Amino acid sequence: MCQPDLFSRILNLRLWRHWPYLVCAAILFLIVGQVHSSGAWYRVRSGDTISHIAQKYRVSQESIINANRIRNDRRLYIDKKIFIPNANPILKTDGLWYQVRRGDTVSEIAVSHKTTVGKLVLANNLQSADHLPAGQKILIPDQSSIHFRNPMKIPLVMTSKYGYRNHPISRMRKFHHGIDFRARKGTRTYACRDGKVVRAGWDPGYGNIVVVEHSGGYKTAYGHLSIIYVKVGQKVKKGHVLALTGNSGYSTGPHLHFEIRRYNKSVDPRRYIKLGS
Ligand SMILES: [Zn+2]
Repeated sequence: MCQPDLFSRILNLRLWRHWPYLVCAAILFLIVGQVHSSGAWYRVRSGDTISHIAQKYRVSQESIINANRIRNDRRLYIDKKIFIPNANPILKTDGLWYQVRRGDTVSEIAVSHKTTVGKLVLANNLQSADHLPAGQKILIPDQSSIHFRNPMKIPLVMTSKYGYRNHPISRMRKFHHGIDFRARKGTRTYACRDGKVVRAGWDPGYGNIVVVEHSGGYKTAYGHLSIIYVKVGQKVKKGHVLALTGNSGYSTGPHLHFEIRRYNKSVDPRRYIKLGS
């Protein structure tokens, strides 16, 4: 019964007479709303936690929880879009995430990533520069420049991807630790970054293989080569000719088997290298 009452009361106010005020109020409302909603949208990825995202954007965990009405802060659904209020736009261009291992110190991580303790402390709001719990992810700033050049000088065409596959010879389901790139026999292959040759020789699986060690815990491996031009211990610059591609070892035809390893674990090279270029 109170609804018609309220309606007639509103009509009696004759609000349309005050339209200039209403327009002003509406504009003000929109401006305030805009300011309030400054921030960034973030799509949740596998392994993300609120604290990881909060660290990344240098905002508090509470602000993310409140803005998105998250009830259970441990549960985040992959691909869910969440709003980060007052996200620092500078930090959206992130560096590289490093998962702390047992016994790591900030200064060791700084040295191995060619950065400084101060930068790590600042980028991660660290309380102490000494102790870091194993498993914590920390941001290594200024690492977006980590770039692996094309290991050849031809457009990269992938003929076999990284990950599980049925092996073309054995037909067994096996993990493929690199990418196979189309390459005629005798195509020059180049060091993707500055580094040191740590392996250059024969392997029954990889055939003739070259492995180059780079800074930041990275290695690149080039397999099934026909001729190797470098020696173990040799320092190479990015773009140095390492070898010619081939068909040696356990291989069905000429191609380049290319791997990127981080702390001796293979990673998908597509995270670092653009195909087709
Ligand atoms: Zn391969």
